[in-house]
Amino acid sequence: MIPAAFEYARPTSVSEAVSALSEGGEDAKVLAGGQSLIPVLRLRMAYPSVVVDVGRIDEMRGVRDDGDAIVIGAMTTHHDVLHDDLVRQHAPVIAQATQTVADPQVRHRGTFGGALAHADPAGDLGGVALALGCEFVAHGPSGERRIAASDFFQDYLTTALGADEVLTAVRVPKLGDGWNSHYEKFNRVAQAWSIVGVAALVKRSDGSIAEARVGLTNMGSTPLRAAAVESALAGADASADAVGAAAEHAAEGTHAPSDLSGAADYREHLARVLTRRAVLAAAGIMP
Ligand SMILES: Cc1cc2nc3c(=O)[nH]c(=O)nc-3n(C[C@H](O)[C@H](O)[C@H](O)COP(=O)(O)OP(=O)(O)OC[C@H]3O[C@@H](n4cnc5c(N)ncnc54)[C@H](O)[C@@H]3O)c2cc1C
Repeated sequence: MIPAAFEYARPTSVSEAVSALSEGGEDAKVLAGGQSLIPVLRLRMAYPSVVVDVGRIDEMRGVRDDGDAIVIGAMTTHHDVLHDDLVRQHAPVIAQATQTVADPQVRHRGTFGGALAHADPAGDLGGVALALGCEFVAHGPSGERRIAASDFFQDYLTTALGADEVLTAVRVPKLGDGWNSHYEKFNRVAQAWSIVGVAALVKRSDGSIAEARVGLTNMGSTPLRAAAVESALAGADASADAVGAAAEHAAEGTHAPSDLSGAADYREHLARVLTRRAVLAAAGIMP
């Protein structure tokens, strides 16, 4: 279908984008890579009065080193994130998860910030951002504010961003020494969305696990942390048995959906299996 008519703005700076959004009011929409928004417009599931295309804002692209964090511009494409040296060095789990996002065509157009702002619970990057403790940098009429990943995802396709705010970048804390990570995704066919996904970050200390962080994809209306698994792993033996026992808690506190790809109890089973696999891989333990 042809989208309903809308005004189109193509700013070249963040401040122009914020002005265009403010003028558009509640019905303004940011356009990034268009991989999710364009189908929504064509299906007439949204009727924005103004579409603010941020594709010409150079300051929103690229990855830079900022001391204890790397900063990924919201308009950096999945392809560029995937091949970025800073990402591979300091947050390899982002590269690993991004590799599983869709196909090369979508990864060349879709953006890191667009995927996170879209907040589809089946999206692979939300759980990763939660586990990494990322900070979301938003610009609005009152200037810049930072939103913790734990506050960013509020509900299905809903984030803490205001209608007049643009997500400009995501700050990814560098993992210190001793941390390793792994992303495990289960989907029906290659290049499809996650039925369930698990991001595991593990810090080992001699023969035990000092700390672990686990992010879950598609186990609720938002990405979630598997808090019960994390507590069970803290101080546990770095053994397959201990990891297996901790992973049994993976579905606690989740609200998995039932849909054509799987029933809730099947997803709960997947969460346990994938958490075990992801933690073992991140901890470097042979199953
Ligand atoms: C066939 C297909 C398969 C896919 N498979 C996967 C998959 O396996 N895993 C996965 O994680 N994703 C998948 N995706 C989604 C993909 O990651 C998209 O890139 C992403 O959902 C949207 O990114 P975008 O840059 O295209 O954003 P757009 O489509 O332009 O925007 C999406 C939404 O986010 C808002 N938005 C975008 N950028 C900003 C910003 N900077 N500030 C404020 N709001 C913003 C828009 O207003 C809109 O509401 C798939 C998409 C397609 C088309």
